[in-house]
Amino acid sequence: MEIDGFRGRLITAEHAGYDSARAVWNGAVDRRPRLIARCGGTADVAAAVRFAREHDLEIAVRGGGHNVAGTAVCDDGIVIDLSPMRAVRVDPAGRTARVQGGALWGDVDHETQTHGLATTGGIVSHTGVAGLALGGGIGFLMRKHGLTVDNLLAAEVVTAEGGIVQASADEHPDLFWALRGGGGNFGVVTSFRFALHPVGPTVLAGPVFWAAEDTTDVLRFYRDFAAAAPDELGSVVRLGTVPPLPIIPKHLHHRPAIAVACCYAGGVDDGERAVRALRRFGTPLLDLLAPTPYVAHQSGLDDTVPHGWHYYWKSTNLAGLSDRAVDAIADHAYAAGSPRTYTAMFHLGGAVARVPGDATAYAGRDVAHNIIIDAVWLPDESGEHAAAETAWARRFLEALRPHRAGGVYVNFLDSDDDTSRVHEAYGDHIVRLAEVKATYDPDNAFHHNKNIRPGRAGAGAIGRETVAPQH
Ligand code: FAD
Repeated sequence: MEIDGFRGRLITAEHAGYDSARAVWNGAVDRRPRLIARCGGTADVAAAVRFAREHDLEIAVRGGGHNVAGTAVCDDGIVIDLSPMRAVRVDPAGRTARVQGGALWGDVDHETQTHGLATTGGIVSHTGVAGLALGGGIGFLMRKHGLTVDNLLAAEVVTAEGGIVQASADEHPDLFWALRGGGGNFGVVTSFRFALHPVGPTVLAGPVFWAAEDTTDVLRFYRDFAAAAPDELGSVVRLGTVPPLPIIPKHLHHRPAIAVACCYAGGVDDGERAVRALRRFGTPLLDLLAPTPYVAHQSGLDDTVPHGWHYYWKSTNLAGLSDRAVDAIADHAYAAGSPRTYTAMFHLGGAVARVPGDATAYAGRDVAHNIIIDAVWLPDESGEHAAAETAWARRFLEALRPHRAGGVYVNFLDSDDDTSRVHEAYGDHIVRLAEVKATYDPDNAFHHNKNIRPGRAGAGAIGRETVAPQH
């Protein structure tokens, strides 16, 4: 098979590397594309899109391949795979970085930190930039520096017709708005330009652990601590068992525990003051908060969520951390069967909440906490074990129903039984998103994602039905 004007690598089921090329981070995803087009640059991406359209092929777009729903790969169609496109070029004087569409966050942190700079990215370094950025982008720096989309200055996009456009505040501003939260619905982003900020390279960062029995007290304390925290302090709560990382004493491995992981995006001394009350609370099992290279902090969780394990997620925005919400979390968080299963809760607010709600397509800026319930099992534990972990995640989400705020972070939605929730992720932005979709992808060629159907206000229904079933 050949693609006109394509200089990358084409992989089909006949090639030895087919199985590894179609594998994504979530090992539970097992799809068999007809063709994987490994792109070397923008021209290859454009050629692959044109080929797919001419041959009416199902299209999946792959950035880092991390989406839990596995939308980076499809059955029987073409995967437009940007994984060779990982270059990051930093302009230290202008404090910007140009990042190719297949880069991972570890690539960005590595290059930008050489200059003592960073932008808001994910909390695991092997996550892809593209999918994360297009959904919004939450991470340790967001309260100080905004979401990843708040740092997006421009994007180069291959459209559904195979054309190439630049999107920024000045060029195609409608597309630029939609790219900042509307996911991969509008085209293939071949490069991003992000604003950077001075961060570290040494930051005060790391987790403090308490025994699971202390969860209610820790969460009640954390609720007030987080509400009063300076913007510089990013934190994520993790509930589950202590991961068996080399940095953690062996006797604590696999012990049920709650951790609050912090990263202070400012001076270490100021950070010490900001976390003092947290580390003095109760009787921590372990306090690993210390001056740490930012890149080391950003990859500290990598080994707890490796490629190939099987994952199933449930998530929601929370209305707050009332005593009853805290009780519901404490009651369910440790009831899973697998020591690898965990729950994480992000603290938003700060700079995220100060951007007007309609400035970008990201919905949910007024939410202070969201929660992600991550059921995990090993490839050889499928069957009963998988069913039990999955059922636990569903029960946990159900128990949180009275404590949910409207909405869910689009990048935390899974497939299957989350399909009906896609409209929750886009909220009121769905009408405007559908209109931009109608302009740039009227045939919905890019639908293997958290899909937005093309639509025009006044030309038929726009709303819940605008969100197509997810493939
Ligand atoms: P992929 O699986 O490659 O793609 C997912 C979808 O994104 C595709 O179906 C496509 O629609 C679109 N897409 C991908 N690349 C492109 C492109 N170049 N152009 C256009 N569309 C594209 N999210 C956060 O915000 N913060 C976190 O801290 C965070 N931590 C995570 C940790 C782990 C271990 C995992 C698995 C996920 C995490 N996420 C986080 C969620 C993450 O944002 C999503 O999984 C996201 O989809 C990952 O991007 P990717 O490029 O790897 O996705």
